[in-house]
Amino acid sequence: MRKNKEVTGSMGGTEDVINVEDHMTELDLALSRHGLSAEKIILTDELTDPLAPFRVAASYKIKGEILIKRRITREEQRAVIDALSEFDPRAEELSDDLTFLKHAVLHEACHILWRYKNCNECDAWAFYEMLI
Ligand SMILES: [Zn+2]
Repeated sequence: MRKNKEVTGSMGGTEDVINVEDHMTELDLALSRHGLSAEKIILTDELTDPLAPFRVAASYKIKGEILIKRRITREEQRAVIDALSEFDPRAEELSDDLTFLKHAVLHEACHILWRYKNCNECDAWAFYEMLI
């Protein structure tokens, strides 16, 4: 008997996007090592940061909350990788979906944990944390 593939909404259940909700358990684990948890993650449909238009995540530093786009397109993923590759040779590792999400979430966790660190420092910190 053939099992029908589940089709969700207009996305057609394809792999055109990274569906963040599918990775919450792993993200929770990554955050738990820093005293945070997936409860701090807020999924959002829209995210626009004029200072960093390619970013897919942001943070409310005071509330300690991490905003991340619910669905991340391949174009958005590529834009982040391209922007990062100017500074870090490890950027291509982010073409793996879970690695990409962990890096994005840890980057924002870094801003929450150390408010004085800038984005480049938090990118480097997130890469370092993923190696451990
Ligand atoms: Zn940042």
